[in-house]
Amino acid sequence: MFVADAHCDTLYRLAISDDLQKGVPEAQGHCAVSAETLAAGHVGLQTFALFTGRTGPAGTPYLDALKMIRAAAQVDVPILTKALPADPPKEPSGIFSCEGGEMLEGSLARLDEFQSRIKLRIITLTWNHENEIGYPAAGGSSQGLKPFGISLLRKMGQYGILADTSHLNDAGFWDVCEYSALPPIASHSNCRWLCNVPRNLTKEQVKALIDRNGFIGVNFYSRFLKENGKTGIDDVVRHIDALCEAGAEHIIGFGSDFDGIESWPEGLGSPANFPDLLEALSRRGYSQEQLEGIAGMNFWNLLKRVEV
Ligand SMILES: [Zn+2]
Repeated sequence: MFVADAHCDTLYRLAISDDLQKGVPEAQGHCAVSAETLAAGHVGLQTFALFTGRTGPAGTPYLDALKMIRAAAQVDVPILTKALPADPPKEPSGIFSCEGGEMLEGSLARLDEFQSRIKLRIITLTWNHENEIGYPAAGGSSQGLKPFGISLLRKMGQYGILADTSHLNDAGFWDVCEYSALPPIASHSNCRWLCNVPRNLTKEQVKALIDRNGFIGVNFYSRFLKENGKTGIDDVVRHIDALCEAGAEHIIGFGSDFDGIESWPEGLGSPANFPDLLEALSRRGYSQEQLEGIAGMNFWNLLKRVEV
């Protein structure tokens, strides 16, 4: 079964966190996401985020992004920087996303440049701090997108780049719904009504994403699955159940956040464990067709639909 994942921070781990000497703790002494673990988990498509903070070791967010693009070669899977193939890849491959938007430095010309070099598919508009685009869920701001954010959305629509609301504050979320020409997504967020953190989605937001045929990638970070205590694969299943109950079955998938999280469900520490999660969903009663959609086809179909 084709598996796709909408978010990981492996390139940051490979290129930046060692430089900073304070990256997320090592999972198993190496990155969770590798050519081997992707193959073991039947992952045909892994989204690799270019995550740039406000300043990094290379000097600017833009230079950090270039460093991460170079680091992608270390993962040793092909990155699809041209048109997607007609059918989902059978062997592990990758696509690029941008997490935070700082690497654009408030310039649409920078977007043109990245687009011709690496073909971004997704831009997560903010990370956990304010930037040129808008305000994060973390800060408690009630302000919506900034003027640059709104012109960026227009340009992203022309390029077929999906606007990702994970990390964005609620006011920004609703602005994306209003101004994005393409279906909005939340690449790595869960249900706020099951785990009450600002990074998760409210029922109203889930409904808005359903109405617009967007996408939600379920995040494996323990603290976004459950407010306290250890988590297991059942906690991921619980969020998937709740999203399906809300009517999101056709727009959900995975946004593991591997290599960007310091705690994860027992038995779900790397892409190699995706078959165990799918097995748990199958035991829960999900049909083959539902499983295929959740495992990867919902995400794939959206990428194909918006590609220009
Ligand atoms: Zn993130």
